[in-house]
Amino acid sequence: AKTSGKDKTVFFNAGIGGQLSRKMELEKDLRLALEHRQFFIVYQPKWDARRGKEAGFEALLRWQHPKKGVVSPGEFIPIAEETGLIVQMTRWMLGEVCRQNKRWHDEGLFEVCISVNMSYRVFESMTLFDMVDEALRSSGLPGPMLELEITESIAMHNMAITLSQLQRVRDLGVGVSLDDFGTGHSSLGRLDEIPVDILKIDQSFVKNSDLTSKQALIVGIIGIARLLDLEVVAEGVETVEQAEFLLSRGCTLMQGYYYGRPMPPEEVEAGRWRITDI
Ligand code: C2E
Ligand code: CA
Ligand code: CA
Ligand code: CA
Repeated sequence: AKTSGKDKTVFFNAGIGGQLSRKMELEKDLRLALEHRQFFIVYQPKWDARRGKEAGFEALLRWQHPKKGVVSPGEFIPIAEETGLIVQMTRWMLGEVCRQNKRWHDEGLFEVCISVNMSYRVFESMTLFDMVDEALRSSGLPGPMLELEITESIAMHNMAITLSQLQRVRDLGVGVSLDDFGTGHSSLGRLDEIPVDILKIDQSFVKNSDLTSKQALIVGIIGIARLLDLEVVAEGVETVEQAEFLLSRGCTLMQGYYYGRPMPPEEVEAGRWRITDI
């Protein structure tokens, strides 16, 4: 009797119902998370293997949920995008990151650029310039010490609107990198039209950099970057073999667990993550 179609349907619905309610709860809770100060920021080093020092950090958002613990951005960013809350969250993030970097700069700890991930929603809202300008002004951080990470799909989606906003923030000296490069579609044809400074090789290529096919793609991306006079950062570098392969092909900017995990500012300051053996 338990294997009847009806029972299965009931079981299936309960599963979907469970997922829906978690999502709805998170959506409700997300609305209050900013004012309840439940967000915090972790920083992942980007290592300059040529100079043997940090090249910068990527700021990544974390949500400490009062009951559910730390919720991963993979789960709450899509909800924040659907609801539009991502715009306020990004404004907060930009303010915090600029203040943090100014402090590190003034204390003589780091003289680097920190990058912040951008959502298509921010471009849609047409508030990017104002929020970047405000974050730089109120912190006193120089524009070149801030970088925005966009994905190919953001750049390609509503290109005219995106490009004009990117151009305006670049006029403030702010850098732009193309995240997850190689995973989007139909980007190569118009890559030269997007105002970027840096290509970030997606983790999926680096993860499989023992495969000849992925090696060819990595070498291709490095070549494109060189031709277009862009810097290139490899993401998701976890092993010394991956780092050595990338170095041998001329990619010297590295990000990944091998060099350092995303960590709170106190750990960044403690500097235990620094790697000098490669
Ligand atoms: P992303 O921008 O591609 O960020 C890199 C992700 O890879 C991060 O996951 C990071 O922790 C992880 N990672 C770094 N090195 C390694 C490695 O060596 N191995 C592996 N397996 N993973 C590595 P995280 O922090 O969970 O973020 C996931 C995604 O969520 C990000 O992908 C980004 O798209 C989004 N996200 C995070 N913070 C923000 C934010 O403040 N704003 C927006 N719009 N999106 C964000
Ligand atoms: Ca990113
Ligand atoms: Ca630059
Ligand atoms: Ca990425």
